Amino acid sequence: MHHHADLEPTHSPNPRPARRILIVGGVAGGASCAARLRRLDELAEIAIFDRGPYVAFANCGLPYYVGDVIADEGTLLVASPQMFRERFNVEVHTNTDVVGINRTARTISVRDLQTGHSRTERYDALVLSPGAAPIRPPLPGVELPGVFAVRNIPDSRRIRSWIADRRASAAVIVGGGFIGLEMVENLVHRGLSVTVLEKLPQVMPPLDPEVAAPLMEHLLAKGVQLHLGDGLARIDEGADGRYIVMAESGASFPADIVILAIGVRPETELAKAAGLHIGSRGGIVVDAQMRTSDLAIWAVGDVVEVPDVVTGQDTVLPLAGPANRQGRVAAESIAGRATNFRGIQATAVVAVLGLTVASTGASEKGLRRAGVTSFEKVYLHPGHHASYYPGAHPIHLKLLFSKPDGRILGAQAVGLEGVEKRIDVIAASIQFRGTVHDLAEAELCYAPQFGAAKDPVNLAGMLAENVLNGDMPVADWLEVNRTTALLLDVREPDEFAGGHIPNAINLPLSQMRNRYAELPGNKEIWTYCGVGQRAYFATRFLAQHGYRSRNLSGGYTTYQAFRAVDRTP
Ligand code: FAD
Repeated sequence: MHHHADLEPTHSPNPRPARRILIVGGVAGGASCAARLRRLDELAEIAIFDRGPYVAFANCGLPYYVGDVIADEGTLLVASPQMFRERFNVEVHTNTDVVGINRTARTISVRDLQTGHSRTERYDALVLSPGAAPIRPPLPGVELPGVFAVRNIPDSRRIRSWIADRRASAAVIVGGGFIGLEMVENLVHRGLSVTVLEKLPQVMPPLDPEVAAPLMEHLLAKGVQLHLGDGLARIDEGADGRYIVMAESGASFPADIVILAIGVRPETELAKAAGLHIGSRGGIVVDAQMRTSDLAIWAVGDVVEVPDVVTGQDTVLPLAGPANRQGRVAAESIAGRATNFRGIQATAVVAVLGLTVASTGASEKGLRRAGVTSFEKVYLHPGHHASYYPGAHPIHLKLLFSKPDGRILGAQAVGLEGVEKRIDVIAASIQFRGTVHDLAEAELCYAPQFGAAKDPVNLAGMLAENVLNGDMPVADWLEVNRTTALLLDVREPDEFAGGHIPNAINLPLSQMRNRYAELPGNKEIWTYCGVGQRAYFATRFLAQHGYRSRNLSGGYTTYQAFRAVDRTP
């Protein structure tokens, strides 16, 4: 860690003039940093500047305020400026834009947005937590008054009044990521009919497409229209004041309100103008203590790029958890404690109309992008609790792990219940650099209404162990339509008749011991069943009778997910 005499905490009985620590942006990262700093240094002067009217508000709650799930705007204010002053002795300057940094003089220029007056403020340490701004593509019509992005309380308030004033009944949401989907849920809740326009052929871009398939099915079943694989071209205003959202393909969608949720961009203008080092991913470069290329300036939150613990690559990740923890780490560094930020792994969850989608670590496409090839994956669809206890719902789970050491690389899951708890366990295991053996052995809560004696997390670990130790070699789904292997469906004939993979033959597991001699001995056999368990038994049986057999992990359920997103060649 770097040491600067004038940044050391002051403990002498006759302190020098108090250190002045200024924080730009007073929400997730900035507010956490201020509060932690005060707990570590009672003597420092701490001031927060935010161009908005509020600090420490709950951005993550904004979609639910639009949806009327959170009816009282006041509950979004986690801490008021008054509370910062009274409880923490922190100055709060709201409606104050920070417009420049003079690194030599160690001052910032600020502009009071209410009076228009500018002034400079000196600092000994400066923390940048300006967040990320919603991307507004420069397309015709995006500046129309009924086209909104959701970033802060005033945005949400404007959306609410627009819906009320216009008696809005149809919305187009551009972008099917986290914020887009949270807006889907909330606008549907408000009774609007909703269309999602998304450039990729799937919603939730961080997920692998086949994992997103059940989510897309769920959205369609709930009446949400999905228009995928097509980008926004323009927004026109009709004679009746309604909007027509035009896609690049020429498709058009009427709307009373349009929400832009196509992603965010780190607000690096101040940092760039000050000559701070910006990384390849467009975020401010920081060290493990969140210090920038200037020893008196720290940066945290959506504006920084930090290493991904799985791929080792620098990443920008706009999520509240990392922003809060980084704010704390920066405070500790400023106070002279060498706490390290460990990096991010993109643990995230979103709920959409009753379905939960969660992920942690790398996706398969992320691994491929990062050039990682020595990995394997399993799919499973266990109930979220014991099947004999009423109300069990499947969790569709994909686990990625490295070969041959079994290190957990990532997991994604979709289901009605119990999804985020499984992903959280796997996320913690990734933090500890755990392996699939750790998942197989994990001792987790079990009573029939909560889990199973073999929890889905244990099952995922055990399946992965079977793959690694050769008990259950797996075949790649993406090869299934061009393989020369024999496709063997081991479900019962009525299940087979209800739908199967083209060219597959049916030999039910229940008849396997009597009939296996019918199978050709000179061909590899790829077995599948409904979700993978019977096929695993078949694979074990066949292997012990001298056949070369692989399992199509996750069975016909996974096949259908691939089909739904057109991934089978
Ligand atoms: P912010 O919290 O955005 O704070 C930055 C502040 O700095 C802003 O108030 C901005 O006005 C101010 N500012 C910027 N530049 C200046 C300047 N020059 N002068 C003065 N002030 C300035 N994350 C999750 O993990 N889970 C969720 O469920 C979730 N839901 C979300 C829902 C919505 C609608 C949004 C918008 C975000 C959501 N996020 C969620 C993301 C999360 O809110 C952010 O990752 C987090 O707030 C980032 O913290 P930050 O401190 O970097 O920036």
